[in-house]
Amino acid sequence: MFKRQRAPKSEIQLWEIPEGTLDLLEILDAEYLLLAPGEVVLNSSRGTSALGLVKDSRVTSESIKNLVRAVRRSNIFQEATIELPRGPVGEGTHDLLVRVSPFGNDGLIIVLIFDDSEFRRLDSIRRDFVANISHELKTPIGALSILSEAVLGASDDPEAVIRFAGRMQIEAKRLSDLVQEIINLSRLQDVDPLVGAKVIPIADLISQAIDESKLTAESRKIQIAFDLKSESLVLGDRSQLGMAISNLIENAINYSPDATQVAVTLKNEKGLVEISVKDQGIGIPDKDLERIFERFYRVDPARSRATGGTGLGLSIVKHVATNHGGDISVWSVEGAGSTFTLRLPEYVDSIKSLEAM
Ligand code: ADP
Repeated sequence: MFKRQRAPKSEIQLWEIPEGTLDLLEILDAEYLLLAPGEVVLNSSRGTSALGLVKDSRVTSESIKNLVRAVRRSNIFQEATIELPRGPVGEGTHDLLVRVSPFGNDGLIIVLIFDDSEFRRLDSIRRDFVANISHELKTPIGALSILSEAVLGASDDPEAVIRFAGRMQIEAKRLSDLVQEIINLSRLQDVDPLVGAKVIPIADLISQAIDESKLTAESRKIQIAFDLKSESLVLGDRSQLGMAISNLIENAINYSPDATQVAVTLKNEKGLVEISVKDQGIGIPDKDLERIFERFYRVDPARSRATGGTGLGLSIVKHVATNHGGDISVWSVEGAGSTFTLRLPEYVDSIKSLEAM
């Protein structure tokens, strides 16, 4: 649960917040801002900082400022839906319903903010996902059905039975990987990582993902080099971010020849944390670069199937990036290698910086 944050003391002392107000606001399922004349933020829910709505005790959003001005002019309640970027980069937005009202007789104004993004996001995602899933599930299920018939027909040929059974195992594993990825994807569509977000030291998460991929890499004589000097923090969901980073590292290994190198780097750039995963693999043709983040899109379906790919990995990465207010980009040359770069907003503790004022 986010705590409230307050404006610097000197500003608070001038204005009296009516008794019981903060307790009442606390039980509302909304983010809030309490503004004094001059639009100083007297008090706000901490979620408003995570949304980037308050900086240095001032409201940052022009749309909210306009609503506040309208309320000051008319002294009448105002309401609007506004779209807010989730971060400095990427396409992700918060869809917010904002209600602004005069509050008491001292010129205070209250702003209530309801996040509508969840509902809209889930609705559009569900619709097209179901159509694709049924198609993807049919392939391994069809294969299993044909193979089981083949086993029945070969009951007097033990060698053929062993061969068919082996292929059935591969198809069953494919089916179970696919179901697991679908569960992962639906989980991250159900949870907004910025609601109940935790502060995460991102270098730890990358080290963990590298450790998890070590065995596969070693078996292919692929060396994972890393340079994780940054001590950056990111606000978000640990398991979602871990899943995204692991997917990038696993792809780098899967789409590289044996005895090559994968390099993982972490650095800070203008308020963003940049995680790059670079390989010396098969690369991606230009015409496919735009599409690889779509669900179930594969450049070479046969190769992806051979490596156990489900076609969902990069769409998971894209979702995680967007939901965290970041983005994912790729640079690739066919036959030479690829670099995937995940950028996330760096977390800066606004309470600490406020206390330092
Ligand atoms: P998959 O489960 O098939 O790997 P992804 O969504 O992770 O699905 O990736 C989509 C496609 O993008 C892959 O099938 C592959 O063709 C291509 N791809 C992803 N990562 C790389 C990479 N590091 N090098 C080359 N191609 C890649």
